[in-house]
Amino acid sequence: MGSITLQSVSKVFGEAKVIPSIDLDIRDGEFVVFVGPSGCGKSTLLRLIAGLEDVSGGKIVIDGKDATEKAPSERGLAMVFQSYALYPHMSVRNNIAFPLKMAGMDKTEIDRKVSDAARVLNLTDYLERKPRQLSGGQRQRVAIGRAIVRQPSAFLFDEPLSNLDAALRVNMRIEISELHQQLKTTMVYVTHDQVEAMTMADKIVVLNRGNIEQVGSPLELYKSPRNLFVAGFIGSPK
Ligand code: ADP
Ligand code: MG
Repeated sequence: MGSITLQSVSKVFGEAKVIPSIDLDIRDGEFVVFVGPSGCGKSTLLRLIAGLEDVSGGKIVIDGKDATEKAPSERGLAMVFQSYALYPHMSVRNNIAFPLKMAGMDKTEIDRKVSDAARVLNLTDYLERKPRQLSGGQRQRVAIGRAIVRQPSAFLFDEPLSNLDAALRVNMRIEISELHQQLKTTMVYVTHDQVEAMTMADKIVVLNRGNIEQVGSPLELYKSPRNLFVAGFIGSPK
């Protein structure tokens, strides 16, 4: 569970060909980072995978099944939004439980899943607090908790750390990497931050104007950037 394949996936908004055509294989359990400058199509690509946007052409295969026409809730994926997407009037417990309540799960099972997620994320002592009573990092963990309880076959992150301060960003980077080691679930992580890409990824996908410039491990891209764009972006001189 957790493999995602894109076959000639394209996206057009009006006249703008934002994603001309992308082929990509994401393997089960991989931590894949989409990196590239602002406006290059990272969020669009993630939203296509999530089903929040319809493809203009091509095919998306998730866990071996054609998911191109599937609704977001039927894809088995969980998108982690920035922490400001939490419900301010709800406790941490209810924020995390929300997707399970929506799915009609019974209360005992919800309580158990919320406890499990809270333990993994070090939120056990904060379950009765409101988001405003938490630090930025704790809020981001609640946002991740809301995804964890659904036990998705893959997590999709769109710049989850961009509104945290620098020190907290480093901590959360490490926490998300540890979470990946613990859960071993596929993670697709969008960022414009080269350091995040280099330190977190098993596989980096460098995007430029909706095209893939190069796919490889951090070391491969660092040692053998295919062109000046990749070299400039990853930061090694060629
Ligand atoms: P990134 O996440 O890499 O910053 P995006 O995927 O958000 O880039 O955007 C890629 C391009 O697609 C941008 O030029 C943006 O203006 C355009 N775009 C994104 N969403 C829409 C939309 N709903 N309608 C029209 N254009 C869009
Ligand atoms: Mg974006």
